[in-house]
Amino acid sequence: MKKIQLSVAEPGSGPIDTDMIIIGAGPVGLFAVFEAGLLDMRCHLIDALDKPGGQCAELYPEKPIYDIPGIPVCTGQELTDNLLHQISPFEPVFHLSQQAEQLGKTDDDRWCVTTSEGTQLRSRNIVIAAGGGSFVPKKLPLTNAVEFENTSLFYSVRRMSSFAGKRVVITGGGDSALDWALNLQPIAQHVTLLHRRDQFRAAPDSVNKMRALVAENKMDLLIGQLSSLHGKSGIINAVGIKKAGQDESRLEADALLAFYGLTMKLGPIAEWGLNRDENLIRVDTEKFETSQPGIFAIGDICHYPGKLKLILSGFHEAALMCQQAFHYAFPERKLIFRYTTSSSALHEKLGV
Ligand code: FAD
Repeated sequence: MKKIQLSVAEPGSGPIDTDMIIIGAGPVGLFAVFEAGLLDMRCHLIDALDKPGGQCAELYPEKPIYDIPGIPVCTGQELTDNLLHQISPFEPVFHLSQQAEQLGKTDDDRWCVTTSEGTQLRSRNIVIAAGGGSFVPKKLPLTNAVEFENTSLFYSVRRMSSFAGKRVVITGGGDSALDWALNLQPIAQHVTLLHRRDQFRAAPDSVNKMRALVAENKMDLLIGQLSSLHGKSGIINAVGIKKAGQDESRLEADALLAFYGLTMKLGPIAEWGLNRDENLIRVDTEKFETSQPGIFAIGDICHYPGKLKLILSGFHEAALMCQQAFHYAFPERKLIFRYTTSSSALHEKLGV
């Protein structure tokens, strides 16, 4: 299938007005774009990850799923790609690598969400499709790490160009570490990949490409532990490395990218004053609305009697939620129920 080109907004943009703000671009948030699109609602999605797909893309991209109706088997990544393909006629806009942080109200009584990157979005509808919470990077356990964070120590790559001409050290052995080592190698002055053992969890193809570059002396691979950070005024100039049975050695560096995996946290949404059941948000089963009108919760994050944390349940919740969201988005319009098979109005929207 042709790879879908995402429309990704610049961080810090806004205020942006839209019909629906979706927090979480997991499978359920993505399908909500489709159901909203059929009802003429334009959507902006926010995700803490740098790509859509939620758990499917982050935790099990290559594992098969067998219980999506009508699709006997597909992997987590295939489901994500299919959903992106399905929603592409509705041109959703993605705000990636940023967390939805603050909730407010505008003077005309709309909701306003501000992200960790300062992006501001305004809408009558907020849909929380935040799964088990934001995926947040596990941080370096070194005491002075925070001093360098976001100046020369990074847990994700926002702009590749900021690493151009730099001596970059990348730690970790998963897909993120390997992908960024390969992507930054052509533009950085030098890339060193540091991993605690000579075995990698990343895709074999990436590992082979990395080893080929090392054999050609185009990048380095070091097996050892990151043990210290050195520099001043927030700028790293060297990192300490401990190899098994050896004293610490220093490696000069301008930037450090640490990829030690992700944990899931509900984060700032927990402070939004919504009715909760521990880490889940309580909703009704007619509209999937929270205790605040116009704020909905669907997918793994929502709770109601009998809730099943399955992708298919989230799809159903998205469809019903949109029926109510339509009334907030277009109070003057009448909702007409149509089938995608037989409605020429829907065919036009879908471009078929
Ligand atoms: P998620 O997929 O968790 O996506 C939520 C997204 O919201 C994440 O990307 C997160 O970064 C983002 N987010 C959260 N908070 C914020 C915030 N404040 N700001 C910005 N972004 C935020 N289900 C099935 O139906 N069938 C299966 O076979 C199946 N197999 C599974 C196998 C494994 C190994 C796992 C872990 C799960 C499996 N599941 C399966 C469960 C399924 O993956 C979940 O039900 C589904 O991913 C829930 O989708 P979601 O969109 O609600 O949330």
